[in-house]
Amino acid sequence: MLEAEGCILIDAGQPKKKRVFTEGLERAGIRPEDISVLLLTHAHWDHMGSASDIRGLTGASLWVHEAEAEWVRSGAPPLPPGVTPWGRTFMAVHRLVMPLINVPPSNVDHVLGDDPRRLDDYGIPGVIVHTPGHSPGSISVILDSGEAFVGDLAMNRMPLCRSPSLPIFADDPEQVKTSWERLLEHPVRRIYPAHGAAFDTEVIRRALDA
Ligand SMILES: [Zn+2]
Ligand SMILES: [Zn+2]
Repeated sequence: MLEAEGCILIDAGQPKKKRVFTEGLERAGIRPEDISVLLLTHAHWDHMGSASDIRGLTGASLWVHEAEAEWVRSGAPPLPPGVTPWGRTFMAVHRLVMPLINVPPSNVDHVLGDDPRRLDDYGIPGVIVHTPGHSPGSISVILDSGEAFVGDLAMNRMPLCRSPSLPIFADDPEQVKTSWERLLEHPVRRIYPAHGAAFDTEVIRRALDA
């Protein structure tokens, strides 16, 4: 959740998280109707699973990149391949349990293209940038203050990884690096991955140089 003059929500979590979301909003002192946009960093199941519920609760406009709009509408997003040995093992197990997970589809209100999109109209001083690689329609939100919300373009949580790293699953690992280079052309200081705690941009610069 980002709050400035306006209020948008980044990602909608796993399925059946409406209650967790409602409680989080209450703690933050935000009314559901204050959220103008529900922006998906990408449409993997763990990011769009409660999109339909949250869209209904808040009345927010659901935005997703055009490459993944159909994944949201169908409720049938693909799983990305593992990149590292652990990523491949993790994903092999994940593929086995995925048929047991019901992912509700959702309507899409606005489809994003590849060009950057400022959010000032919604009271957020920042920009949406297309950062594909983990998935074809992955986007990041970069605030003018230097915080970047990057979805799964980085990961920082067990059991995915022990410390901040590039994603262990990705459709195109080379494109992940290209997207990072594009992202780091902006004055980004702090990275907020979807999975795990925030970390300094320097960590990613080192990972890219390695
Ligand atoms: Zn993902
Ligand atoms: Zn994820």
